[in-house]
Amino acid sequence: TNSRATILVPGRINPRVTERLSARFDLVAVPHGPDLEISAEDAERIRAIAVSGALPANWIARLPRLEMIASFGVGYDGVDVRAAAARGVVVSNTPDVLNDEVADTAIALLLNTVRQLPQAETWLRNGRWASEGPFPLSPLSLKGRHVGIHGLGRIGLEIARRLEPFKVKISYCTRRPRPDVGYCHFPTLLGLAEAVDTLISIVPKTPETIGAIDAEVLRALGPRGVLINVGRGTTVDEPALIAALKAGTIAAAGLDVFMNEPQVPQDLIDLPNVSLLPHVASASVPTRNAMADLVVDNLIAWFDTGRALTPVPETPQKT
Ligand code: NDP
Repeated sequence: TNSRATILVPGRINPRVTERLSARFDLVAVPHGPDLEISAEDAERIRAIAVSGALPANWIARLPRLEMIASFGVGYDGVDVRAAAARGVVVSNTPDVLNDEVADTAIALLLNTVRQLPQAETWLRNGRWASEGPFPLSPLSLKGRHVGIHGLGRIGLEIARRLEPFKVKISYCTRRPRPDVGYCHFPTLLGLAEAVDTLISIVPKTPETIGAIDAEVLRALGPRGVLINVGRGTTVDEPALIAALKAGTIAAAGLDVFMNEPQVPQDLIDLPNVSLLPHVASASVPTRNAMADLVVDNLIAWFDTGRALTPVPETPQKT
């Protein structure tokens, strides 16, 4: 007999997760795909899952003793929380421990985009400084901009706080205004886009946010407009963004996330007024370690106390 609970680990996850979990639990590793490839015997003993990315309903349906899903990352749009909630399965994510890293990256991407700093470094590395002279002046500057933050949650607020010393004006759009901030609130994204010249998106993927930054919002942002997206690629209508960047409807964009990762449209790669990152906003060793620890600590807390540390709102725990 074995008193250790069995935890399912689909595909790749931060090695610190499996290293720490294996000291306490039996782990079952399976390929991460649309269908769960597991023996009937293993399926019968799985009590929790530690996962990075997708966890569809058909996986949950295959595991009769499943109690908890610990998802790596703060965004858990890949986990079918409705199916989990219907079964009484608690889902946890990793909020807060990545706020500073993601906000830092958002500011870096904003500066890279308006000042073309990656292009300037490439100019130096390719020897063009010595052969051709100084890098061309960046047409844009952060000075005097009005920045609109789409989503003023845990991360959005850290972005806003970091923007204050840059002396830009700050406004935001959320469904409900925050009573604890002095920034100007816009109830609609279109209203925000009309008021600002710089838009930073840091909202979760939900039915409402899919395609929210469309041709109309980009037109409202205007010809000096800069779009930064560090939330989810699905928030932006990517073909509309490419068209707006080509036509000069907006001036520039900085993107960490894309509609169909890791595929990035060649049109975006070819455009000169775009700064691109491969979904690295939280991707430092210290921050990913903190996220890994929170995944493990959620599972340990669940099996020690019957309560997860950071359950998502869709799968509330009994009080
Ligand atoms: P929070 O839940 O703390 O904040 C979400 C914010 O979005 C809230 O202010 C919420 O306000 C707002 N929001 C939600 N829906 C809408 C809507 N339809 N229109 C306008 N505003 C909306 O989340 P976090 O700040 O912790 O994270 C945000 C997201 O960022 C994550 O879900 C994840 O997808 C993404 N992310 C990306 C990373 C990367 O690597 N690029 C890293 C980390 C996070 P209200 O409810 O009032 O509308």
